[in-house]
Amino acid sequence: MDLKSPVTELKGVGKTAAENLEQMGVHTIEELIMTFPFRHEDFRLKDLAQTPHNERVTVEGRVESVPNVMFMGKGRSRLQFKMLVGNHLIRVSFFNQAYLKNKLKPGAIITVTGKWDQGRQQISGSQVHFGPKDAQADFEPVYSLKGKLTQKKYRHFMRQALDEVAFMIPETLPGKLRESYKLLGIHEALEGVHFPQNAMHAKQARRRFVYEELLVFQLKMQALRKVRREDEAGLAIHYDVEKLRTFFAALPYDLTGAQKRVVNEICKDLLTPQRMNRLLQGDVGSGKTVVAASGLYAVVTAGFQGALMAPTEILAEQHLENLRSWLEPFDVRVELLSGSTKAKARRALLADLATGDIDVLIGTHALIQPDVAFHKLGLVITDEQHRFGVNQRRVLREKGESPDQLFMTATPIPRTLSITAFGEMDVSIIDEMPAGRKVIETNWLKAEQFNLVLQRMEQELAAGRQAYLICPLIEESDKLDVQNAVELHAQLQTIFADKFTVGLMHGRLPADEKDAVMRSFSEGAINVLVSTTVVEVGVNVPNATFMVIYDAERFGLAQLHQLRGRVGRGEHQSYCVLVADPKSEEGKERMISMTETNDGFRLAEKDLELRGPGDFFGRKQSGIPQFKMADLVHDYRALETARRDANNLLYTDEFWHDEEYGPLRESLEKSGVMTGERID
Ligand code: ADP
Ligand code: MG
Repeated sequence: MDLKSPVTELKGVGKTAAENLEQMGVHTIEELIMTFPFRHEDFRLKDLAQTPHNERVTVEGRVESVPNVMFMGKGRSRLQFKMLVGNHLIRVSFFNQAYLKNKLKPGAIITVTGKWDQGRQQISGSQVHFGPKDAQADFEPVYSLKGKLTQKKYRHFMRQALDEVAFMIPETLPGKLRESYKLLGIHEALEGVHFPQNAMHAKQARRRFVYEELLVFQLKMQALRKVRREDEAGLAIHYDVEKLRTFFAALPYDLTGAQKRVVNEICKDLLTPQRMNRLLQGDVGSGKTVVAASGLYAVVTAGFQGALMAPTEILAEQHLENLRSWLEPFDVRVELLSGSTKAKARRALLADLATGDIDVLIGTHALIQPDVAFHKLGLVITDEQHRFGVNQRRVLREKGESPDQLFMTATPIPRTLSITAFGEMDVSIIDEMPAGRKVIETNWLKAEQFNLVLQRMEQELAAGRQAYLICPLIEESDKLDVQNAVELHAQLQTIFADKFTVGLMHGRLPADEKDAVMRSFSEGAINVLVSTTVVEVGVNVPNATFMVIYDAERFGLAQLHQLRGRVGRGEHQSYCVLVADPKSEEGKERMISMTETNDGFRLAEKDLELRGPGDFFGRKQSGIPQFKMADLVHDYRALETARRDANNLLYTDEFWHDEEYGPLRESLEKSGVMTGERID
């Protein structure tokens, strides 16, 4: 028998068992061994006096009475007996296991596992072992099985397999790494994963496999990055440092430390002949636009053109306004191309773009139309990158000869996720807000307190400020969303009658109407904007200081934070009111987190903790790998370590030549990364 032998060579694996194993994807003995349990049943002895009500316990003791069996019809029965545990006399009951009666003789020492009922001083038994505890293992593995396979049978197969062939499994982690992290060797680790001797053994075994799994994953990611760097010749853009300095000096404010750091990271990438592939994360209001402008200006000083793509026309227009005010004094021509650019203007614009007369082109999806051709495109920036599909981003970058690329996002992504989902990108983070920014005061109120909310809103409006009211979001039905918005809009119109103007905005409005509403709000003609979540992205109305989010419990933390980011953009103190009656503990926790912090990264970590990595990106965008052992929420340290090690290893000779590293190299080769296969 060896690792590749079929499972049918194990004793007890008959036709049915073999079929069931096959359904689990287990054909060989090696595959059986590599199928890990998803948890362990804990059979360690517990002190009843310390055991909370309804908790599972294992106790050892003496049978004190002849078991009494009661039949309850329909083949159901209950068996009960007294048992002495230490000096504690308790009752034990088993359902539908009348056959135990003959085996439970008074005076016999047994070990019972079950649920502890503190009030009745009784254990509802689930398992009994005839004899003292020491003959029974502390932990038993529980596997995810198919068909008629029982845990007991499966454990039996596993025991055989480990005893007979486990020693043939080759070590996959080099000694150097195992020593430096004190990781178990493969055989001891396998034993610990399946049949740990104690809690420590189980923990150490898990630790080894978590590290190995993350290391292999990171090797793939980092190798991909390395291959891309080396293969994808990009442009070396020799920008004019003096001109950039003058540009920074002319800005109305100093850049924050974080902005400066990120600008430097970008400039360094521009200079190198490899193509930049960088993700810029910065919380709402952290000042990504000016960073983008710096990059665009840098490439212009080197004789290249730049492009900036935004998800909506309003955003594109705001960018146009900002970039013109910053760049025009330096003779940079900035233009806008959007769906509403008229045909004649568009023709002229495209002509100037093709000759290089236009330095920076800002736009919406309109930028990726086939007839948009640049003269010499050096840098492509995508704002709110998650709003665009992979293909849209690709089309834009193909408008130049390998231009550098920068993706910007205001959705903070917890580091563990960003280095897994975007592991092959370089990541820059703006983790500092411009000085003097006031913290948005956030409060959580119940729906019945809505009048209070309206009073506060009225005060703000009377002081000349503006307000947003975000409507209930009803999942899977934007029809109802619209209805809610329409109703709330009507209500507010009645309430504020001649005092204030109330505008309405939702996804079903035609694009030009949406723009018109947004524009009047931005110009101050509308005082209160009732809206669905369509206002979520990037809009800047500094005079808006009051944000009400209705039914806030229906939103995830990331989205609440994005919505809140619509206020707090000007000189005035801003407020956010969450109107919510959350039913679940998790919902309550989300509301409390919002009132406690304005830090998007902390909220993102919290969100990850509450919802888990699978849900974090929502249904559409995932890219999160499935791990057998590792858990991205709890194993983030191991992930960081593995990432660092992977990055170093790839640049060492020993990794590429030493025999010890063979298995790691093999998993890398199997992944196809080294042959240049792409992930995106
Ligand atoms: P976001 O990162 O959300 O896109 P913006 O680029 O729109 O943020 O910047 C938000 C606001 O902060 C803008 O009004 C911008 O001019 C201002 N701002 C950016 N950087 C600074 C800074 N270093 N000091 C002061 N204000 C800044
Ligand atoms: Mg922005």
